[in-house]
Amino acid sequence: MKRVIRLKAYAKINLFLDVKGKRDDGYHDIVSIMQSIDLYDIVTVKKKSSGGIKIICNNPSVPDDHNNIAYKCADLFFKTQGITSGSVEITIDKRIPVAGGLAGGSTDGASVLKALNILYDQNLDITELCTIGSKIGADIPYCLKGGTCLCEGIGDILTPFESDLKSYIFVLAEIPASVSTKEAYEIIDKNNIKENSLCVDEIINCLKEGNLRPNLLYNVFEKIEEQNIPQITSVKNVLDSFDALKSMMSGSGPTVFGIFSNLKNAASACSDLKDKGINAYICRSI
Ligand code: ATP
Repeated sequence: MKRVIRLKAYAKINLFLDVKGKRDDGYHDIVSIMQSIDLYDIVTVKKKSSGGIKIICNNPSVPDDHNNIAYKCADLFFKTQGITSGSVEITIDKRIPVAGGLAGGSTDGASVLKALNILYDQNLDITELCTIGSKIGADIPYCLKGGTCLCEGIGDILTPFESDLKSYIFVLAEIPASVSTKEAYEIIDKNNIKENSLCVDEIINCLKEGNLRPNLLYNVFEKIEEQNIPQITSVKNVLDSFDALKSMMSGSGPTVFGIFSNLKNAASACSDLKDKGINAYICRSI
């Protein structure tokens, strides 16, 4: 019987993100196209005979108690499945920038659900794991599925589709600032920002053909965050100066990414950002 499972927990970027409006329950309905990339945390889940849920993480800014999304997922998994003596040690080797709009916490949580399903022989299918995950965070169902997905509702209604983005290179830049997702949504509500989702079907059709249409890609939060964090604009300018097809922000930010069709330009942009003291990563879609 297996006692340890180690998984790569992949980050996502949003190729498209729009807010449709606020719901009666306070959440917002969104329209988003999410894409997994090969930047990942390594999550190791070790089954123990006692001791409850323990979190170990190499990044001190990540909570190592019941506030960790991985902890919450393990706790809810045990409760939902009626496992009263569940004990695990969860080690998170954090490589994904924290609070960057890359779903770093959600992807750790999703990996824990996958691992516990195996370690505790529960045989839940992906839909059942998504039901548990969605109670912890709206991005967790997507992280369980991965790949390219149209995400609607609060982000939990998923329509996966095959895309062919192998020829594109993504340069991610970590912006040293923090973003309040709550405040960003409040600004959208207050300014009555209208949705811009009309071109989503067109984007999906293009992505299916492996043709990324840079001008159609959009993030409703980008302009709002650029007003608060000028580095978002300056990093986008650097990426554009190396001929990025598009530079934009992921999720509610502040991580910025540039999309390149030329590896040499992508590598030059990445090293230029590093020279400027910005953590930058070259990534591919997965
Ligand atoms: P999203 O794109 O889903 O909005 P994000 O990438 O912006 O998420 P996370 O990296 O998930 O943000 O972190 C958000 C907050 O959650 C952080 O401030 C952190 O303290 C907390 N957190 C809890 N568990 C984790 C975890 N396993 N990894 C990272 N952050 C976590």
